[in-house]
Amino acid sequence: MDWNKLAEALIPDEDVKPLDYYETKYPARNLPEGAHVTRLAPSPTGFMHIGNLYVALANERIAHQSGGVLYLRIEDTDDKRKVEGAVEIIHKSLKYFGINFDEGADLCGEYGPYYQRQRAEIYHAYAKDLIKRGLAYPCFCTEEEMEKTREYQTENKLLPGYYGEFAKCRKLTEKEIYENLKAGKPYVIRLRSQGDVEVKHTFRDQVKGDITVTENNQDVVILKSDGIPTYHFAHAIDDHFMRTTLVIRGEEWIPSLPIHIELFNVLGFKLPKYGHNCSIQKIDGETRRKLSKRKDPEASLTFYREQGYHPTAVRTYMMTLLNSNFEEWLLKNPEKPLEEFKYSIGKMGKSGALFDILKLNDISKTFMATLDAKQAYDFLKSWADEFGTDEQKAYFADKEYMCKVLTLCMGIGGKKRRKDFVCAKQAVEMIAYFFDNTFAPTYEYRFDNAVVKAILEGFKATYDYADDMQAWFEKVKAVASASGFATDMKAYKADPTAYPGNVSDVAEMLRIATTGLANTPDLWTIMQILGAERTLARLEKAITAL
Ligand code: GLU
Repeated sequence: MDWNKLAEALIPDEDVKPLDYYETKYPARNLPEGAHVTRLAPSPTGFMHIGNLYVALANERIAHQSGGVLYLRIEDTDDKRKVEGAVEIIHKSLKYFGINFDEGADLCGEYGPYYQRQRAEIYHAYAKDLIKRGLAYPCFCTEEEMEKTREYQTENKLLPGYYGEFAKCRKLTEKEIYENLKAGKPYVIRLRSQGDVEVKHTFRDQVKGDITVTENNQDVVILKSDGIPTYHFAHAIDDHFMRTTLVIRGEEWIPSLPIHIELFNVLGFKLPKYGHNCSIQKIDGETRRKLSKRKDPEASLTFYREQGYHPTAVRTYMMTLLNSNFEEWLLKNPEKPLEEFKYSIGKMGKSGALFDILKLNDISKTFMATLDAKQAYDFLKSWADEFGTDEQKAYFADKEYMCKVLTLCMGIGGKKRRKDFVCAKQAVEMIAYFFDNTFAPTYEYRFDNAVVKAILEGFKATYDYADDMQAWFEKVKAVASASGFATDMKAYKADPTAYPGNVSDVAEMLRIATTGLANTPDLWTIMQILGAERTLARLEKAITAL
């Protein structure tokens, strides 16, 4: 067989450049010793899974911690999965969580193009070289023929795939090949595998540790019939020419590792290091399963932005999933930025990271309680601007007023910070009662209307905005007494049946009338923030509603 002639017939010289052109164009990177080049290589499906953030954060930490490079490559070889605007979504959603690429798709960089579809020439050049060397060949098998082989293999309990006796086109004669080409039969290019499945090797995975890998014997497709490479082939070529030193990717790729090892080998490329990370799982009743795009809203990265989780809180939580010793470090260094933690790929979970939204909520609450009023205002406003209703957006027009609300509701400046806020959506909903445009109380009192009426009217008649907290409370006590409620808690506890209730029940009625809620931060301060006019209007509205 004249392989050179066949290579030229399949991939003409004018379509590609000599191989050393690419080696020169994409030289070894000039980086300090030990620096890692890592990448994120998503398909542009438009959906960003929390697992993408998990792996992105691992890659980002390793690259930046070592003084290396993190880049974004778009694996768009599967046109069917492509969604318009997906790359923008990738950038936007990862940027929110502090993942910034140094180079890559839609950014600058010397190692591009970073879209695989724009790299056809390089793949073709290397496919041509493999054909020339007798290490790749055209395969004309039709879908029906492949299906027959699959059925036969299943019936006979044989390993599936295109190998050995099943690799029919491996044995085509030169004449048959040219006849097929002449007849215009569609074809793919396959690797002529040199491997033996009986041979096993120990492979050092950076996450899993030592794993056993069997040699590949599959004549895998490297170029599809439209000339587009498969993931396997593109991965080997791109990670070589983009000078990736460490590939961190999902464990679902472990079964393909033998193919990749063989491809790097036949292409003459140095194999990068690999770390296969486990999937993100959740407890669902009695079972533990993967977080599912279909079933779990929290699987999508968009969920966290829409809910308004603070990016630092999510990053912190993801770090607890990524490195088992992170929490201990965090306890000792609560004030330090996460970037100071020494991230280690070897400490990544080997067998499934358990996602626990309650724990994320806890971390978020603690984080929110570190913000000052201005920081909280800015964060909540940016959420509302993007995701809030028009009414919620309007909350932020009066910054001074909003900062007072936040100071109270977050316990800023108090002895102990309140930890009520988990995320922006919930926080903004929680403070809705401070704003007349969203104040829509249902007034659920625990006392008869007549009792409530007497209390509200009594209080309204004596209310004075100038009263300090103590004077104010004396007035609450006075209306309580006037309606027979206990103001002395000791006396009340000694004989609760002697009273309709006590002063805190009275405060609750005033609270419900003013805010619509039975539980809020300090009521005197709320009235101070609302102002005299609005407080009186609310009391009046509540009385009328009785
Ligand atoms: N496009 C592949 C995926 O989304 C990338 C795997 C890799 O990182 O190499 O699963």
